[in-house]
Formats: sequence, C-alpha cells, structure tokens
Amino acid sequence: MLTITGESIMKGVASGTLRFYRKMEREVPGEDTQDIKTELEKFESARQRLKNAQQSLYEKTKAEAGEESAEIFLAHMQMLDDEMLKNSVKEIIREQNRSAAYAVQVGLSSIVGRFQAMDDLYVSARSEDIADLANGLLDELTGMASSGIEGQKPYILAAEQLSPSELMKLDRKRLAGIVLCSGSKISHTSIIAKGMEIPMLIKCSGLDESLEGKEAVLDGYTGHLFLEPTPEQKILTEERRSRELDDKDRIQKLKDKETVTADGRKIRLLANIGDPSDVGAVIANGAEGVGLFRTEFLFLNNSDFPTEEEQFFVYRQVLKTLAPKPVIIRTCDIGADKASDYMNFEAEDNPALGLRGVRFSLARRGIFKTQLRAMLRASSYGTLGIMIPMISDVQEIRECRELLSECREELEAQGTEVGSYEFGITVETPAAVLCAEELAGEVDFFSVGSNDLAQYTLAVDRQNTRLASFFDPCHPSVLRLIRMAAEAGHKKGIRVGICGEIGSDPALTETFLQAGIDELSVNPKSILPIRERVMTISGARAHSDDRLSGSAAQHPG
Ligand code: PEP
Ligand code: MG
Repeated sequence: MLTITGESIMKGVASGTLRFYRKMEREVPGEDTQDIKTELEKFESARQRLKNAQQSLYEKTKAEAGEESAEIFLAHMQMLDDEMLKNSVKEIIREQNRSAAYAVQVGLSSIVGRFQAMDDLYVSARSEDIADLANGLLDELTGMASSGIEGQKPYILAAEQLSPSELMKLDRKRLAGIVLCSGSKISHTSIIAKGMEIPMLIKCSGLDESLEGKEAVLDGYTGHLFLEPTPEQKILTEERRSRELDDKDRIQKLKDKETVTADGRKIRLLANIGDPSDVGAVIANGAEGVGLFRTEFLFLNNSDFPTEEEQFFVYRQVLKTLAPKPVIIRTCDIGADKASDYMNFEAEDNPALGLRGVRFSLARRGIFKTQLRAMLRASSYGTLGIMIPMISDVQEIRECRELLSECREELEAQGTEVGSYEFGITVETPAAVLCAEELAGEVDFFSVGSNDLAQYTLAVDRQNTRLASFFDPCHPSVLRLIRMAAEAGHKKGIRVGICGEIGSDPALTETFLQAGIDELSVNPKSILPIRERVMTISGARAHSDDRLSGSAAQHPG
C-alpha cells in the first residue's frame, strides 16, 4: 500500500480507480492566413458559443453546488466581454495575419503570463480563469478536448490542476473524489467541490502518472490517499463511510425539530439566501425561515437597476413560499466589491470604506424607494423583516424609516395594501456596536454581520487573499463586540442574531449562546449541524422568549 498525504478541502470518504485527467495536446495551425475577415468571425462566434456554454455551466453548478459556487461562471461571461481580452486576440489576427485559434493561444497565454507575474495573489488567481477561458475558446475553435476518462466504474480523479469548467464537464455519477498535485483552498474548483460534497485533497506530493489505474481510497478526514489499500485499510475506510452515513441519517431526523438547548432555551435558526432558487434548500434543511436574504443578485445580474415590479415579484415569491415563516430581506448592499458597470460608481481609493450599503441607498433615494415599495407591497404575502445594511448612525435609521413611511403613504394613496413588518439593521460596523443602545431604541432587531464587523474591527480587507491569515472573524475583539451588541440590544428588549459566516461554525455556537445571541442565520447546509449542536448546550444565558418569537411584526409604518 502506498499512502499519499495532501491537504483536505472536503471531508468524506471515496473509493475507486485512480484516473489521471489528460489535457489533450492541440494542433493549432501557426501559418499565415489571408482571410482575416473569416478568422475574426470565427473568433467572434467561438466567443459567443463559449458565453452560452458558461451560462449552462452556471445553471448546472447552481443546481448541483449552490449559487456561491456557480458565480465563477458569471465572472467568466463578463471576462469574455472584456475589451482587453478581445483586442489581444483580434490584434494578432489582424496584424500578424494568423488564425483565430493561433491568436487565442498566443494572445491569451501572454495575458495569463502577465497576470501570473503580478505580485498579487488575487490577480494571479485570475490568470487561472483566463487560462480556463483560453481552453474553452480553443475547444470551440479546434474541437473539444477530452478528459481521457472513459469507462463505467467510479474513479478518483488525479490532476496537476483542474479548472472549474473541467470539473463541471465531468460525469458526477462516476466521480467519487479529487486529488490534485497543486490547487488552493480558495480556488473556485475547491469551492465547487465543497458545494457538491466531493471529497477532495490538494497539494498531494508524490502523485504521478505511473499510479494510473490503481485501486484507491481517499480519506478526506485525515487527508490521505491510499493506493492499493490493505484489507485492514479498506475496513477502516468502510467504517468511516458508514459512520458518515449514520451521521447524515441522524442529523436528517432533526429536520422538523425545534432548535432548543438541552436546558430548554429556544434559539431561532434561520437560513441565509442570495437568490429565490435557494428557498428549496431552506425548506429541505428544516430552517425556521430566512434571516438574511441578500438582494444584491437582483442588482448585479442585471444591465440596469431592477424595476419595482421585478423586485416585488421576487420578494412576494419568497415570502409566499415560506409563509408563515419569517423572511428578513436586506436592502441592497451594493458598493465596494459589489458593483456593475451600469451603476456608474465613481472610482474610490478605499471602496470598502466608501459609498456602500445604506450610504448608497440614501445617496440614490429613487433607487432605494423603488426597493422599499416593492418590499412593502410584498409584505402582505408573508412574515416580512426589512433589514438595512452598514448602519453606523441613528440618523441613518431615521432617514430610512422616513422613506419607508413615505413609500407606505404613496402606496396606500394608490389603493395598494401594505402589511405589517419588522424593521432591523445589520450590526457590522464597530460604530454601530459602540452606539448599539441608541440604535436598539429605534429598531425591532439586530443581526450581527460578522464578516464586515471583522473587516472593520481588524482593519483587514476581506477581499484581499494576501491578508487571509489576518482575517479572523473569531478574533477576541470581534467576539467581544458581538457580546456588547447582544447586551445593548437586550437592554432595549430587542432580538439579536448573527448572520455572518461564523454563525455556521458549530465550534462557536456555545460562545454565541453564552453571549446571549437569540438567533443564528446560517447557510442552509449548516442548519442541521447547528441545530444538533444547540441541542447539546446547557447553562447558556437565557433571555425572555418574546424576543425570539419574531411573530410580532409590529411596524405598520
Ligand atoms: C456580513 O457582513 O457579515 C454580512 C452578513 O453581509 P455580507 O457578507 O453580505 O457583507
Ligand atoms: Mg456585510
């Protein structure tokens, strides 16, 4: 038995034959062409076909691995429209009289090289995306590359690197696991593998093609790949797999249970969503509602600001499907890393500290009121919470409330029915925590946005992968601020939850309950593990139950 060790990306156990992904050597004709017009047309039509293919990969990935995993394919579609990318190919066709395939190979590999040379992890990671697109364009121009993996048996895929497109084109039914020689935790391929729950290891040294076809067992818990495993190793792995299945079964049984601590304290356990299609996962995982509906998708996957009608339709659909469960819709948090060309943002030196969240909404009131009107119209279809992001000041809350009243009056004057709703804020700036008591006096609930709270408290840009080791949302300073927010909220009798990523970490659940947190809003897949964790905790501080009911949708405006 040979054992190879790697870094685990996705836990789980897989067994099958080890098969190496073979990247096809392509024949790209290098000779001159006289027909420049035809070559330009060939490039244009290959680009269009690849864009359509990326749209299909987006839909497929979204269905199989979730929205977050699928976003890379939307980014690919935008890159294919990039002028620099298009010109780098067209110039070679025009100026060097070369074929479209040759121009793609040379033009895009020079961009890849330039990006790779940059001393910025984020930019150099983009070089992989461009290489992926170059391959896709060459597939369109010279014929499909095949993975070289035929047959019917389950296999563990081995490769130096694997792009998101290559992964999504593989037959999921036979793909039991993935082992890569290089790879990175933050790569899109890793994100997709996690979303699809495919056991995966990266940075496996000693993987080489002489191992092709060997029987293999991948243990994502320990980070090992066993080749030609001994009978004992097979038994151990089988035991682990059956424990995994038992765990899944056990946890599934909690789907319709209440989220209550061992000593009887009720916690509200909700899901975060970013798209109406995520509602299926909310229901399938037994969430008690939605604690954060990020509405940015409506604004970012669009070529103009969405109309009131478009937004109303989406909000009503989510509220109606989940009624009477609560749905907290967050007003649009655009700005910083979330912007599209049509929004005409002025360049900012520090966009994370710039015009984003409520600041953008209050600066562009027409756009904000369109969204508020759509939410108010949808309010009579379910149990609505309206949440405002990036608040740092009482005045901002008052202005939002005034606009809400204005919208309500306008709608009622038109004869449109407006239901009741709760009104709350994301607590995600240190300023909001330090003024939490004043803010709590103006709202029905707080939800701590720990992703941004960590960014602003630690002064670490959450987008900067070079600073990943400094971005620690569990830093004592952040945990202390969460406790302060909970105490201030409770002093004023309002509910306090967490909707940032750390809410999904079972290792922190007890800390949050000790801090007095009443509600956790987590990604849908974490609902059941967190419910199980809550049910084992006792002795955490209890608070009055009416804060948790959330049914008192008491703000008719
Ligand atoms: C947060 O900041 O924790 C949060 C929930 O919002 P987002 O990640 O969308 O900024
Ligand atoms: Mg935030």
